[in-house]
Amino acid sequence: MKNNKNLKTWLDQMELNHPLVIAGPCSAESQDQVLNIANQLKNTDATILRAGIWKPRTRPGNFEGVGEIGLKWLKRAKDETGMQTATEVANPAHVELALKNDVDLLWIGARTTVSPFIVQEIAEALKGTDKIVLVKNPVNPDLALWLGAVERLHTSNIEKLGVIHRGFSTYEKTKYRNNPEWQIPIDLQNQFPDLPLILDPSHIAGRRDIIFDLCQTALDLNYNGLMIETHHDPDKAWSDAKQQITPKALEQMTIDLKIRKQEGEAIEFKNKIANLRTKIDVIDHKLTEILGKRMVIADDIGKLKKKSNVAILQNKRWNEILGKMILEGEDNNLSEEFILKIYKAIHQESINHQKRMNK
Ligand code: PEP
Ligand code: MN
Repeated sequence: MKNNKNLKTWLDQMELNHPLVIAGPCSAESQDQVLNIANQLKNTDATILRAGIWKPRTRPGNFEGVGEIGLKWLKRAKDETGMQTATEVANPAHVELALKNDVDLLWIGARTTVSPFIVQEIAEALKGTDKIVLVKNPVNPDLALWLGAVERLHTSNIEKLGVIHRGFSTYEKTKYRNNPEWQIPIDLQNQFPDLPLILDPSHIAGRRDIIFDLCQTALDLNYNGLMIETHHDPDKAWSDAKQQITPKALEQMTIDLKIRKQEGEAIEFKNKIANLRTKIDVIDHKLTEILGKRMVIADDIGKLKKKSNVAILQNKRWNEILGKMILEGEDNNLSEEFILKIYKAIHQESINHQKRMNK
């Protein structure tokens, strides 16, 4: 996909003086619920109302969405509040119904983006539409797959395109429901600076208390918008209850978030440096986390050596590691001196961990 300068036009045309905010429930539950939330959102920065009508659920038997009737509720909310509306489409039949009911923004969900067959079918059903179409990242951390989906839509002459970062599944338990892997959207942003990038902190977090920090990181990285699940009574929501916030909480959050304005040379410098520093912070955080994980393995090795009565220091193994890392360092533009310093320190910490296990 070429870097098309028109990609951001739809967002510029909205003439917002703040990042785009899309808010609304995970799922439409009833007409009253949709109208209640929409009317409360009128007092916030949110200009687009989201609600899932067809819900992809990991396991069968959970609430799978109200279906087509929900589109009428969204239309009613649009007529009452003037907000634009958004829903997820997962096949051509959904597309047809959403277009028929005048939904303004259609998004492709994370479980759909993984399937080029379905994305192609959706792209064909949407051919030439003037609606906004956003592509959520695939559940697996694969930038090419994400971009491939955007490309299929672009080839179908859909002009108002953008992407939503909603995090990636991992088998490992982390504090997130879906790991952010910030490096992936940062790479995407570097390759396609004109493709609007929107954060969905709700599905990354899976819980309310870290949504604010995720949003602030995204704004520091110059994301163009936020999609935040919002419910009038979050604890009673029929899906994703733990991660939804009230419209009031959303309003306060958008007041507290620091938005970096894009004017003037000094401000541009400050923005750029803040952006670069946030990237460094993200990487440093990962480095520390990964070193921690390495030490957990060192602990296990320590226990195993104790059980088998084997000496902690194994010189042959250590020299092999160093030799390999010096070569990998060369590939990554890192000097031998630096690699030696850093691996000696890591090795020492590893030995300390193993000794603790050996006591
Ligand atoms: C959603 O936005 O409600 C949703 C199902 O998201 P995702 O595709 O990111 O899981
Ligand atoms: Mn949800």
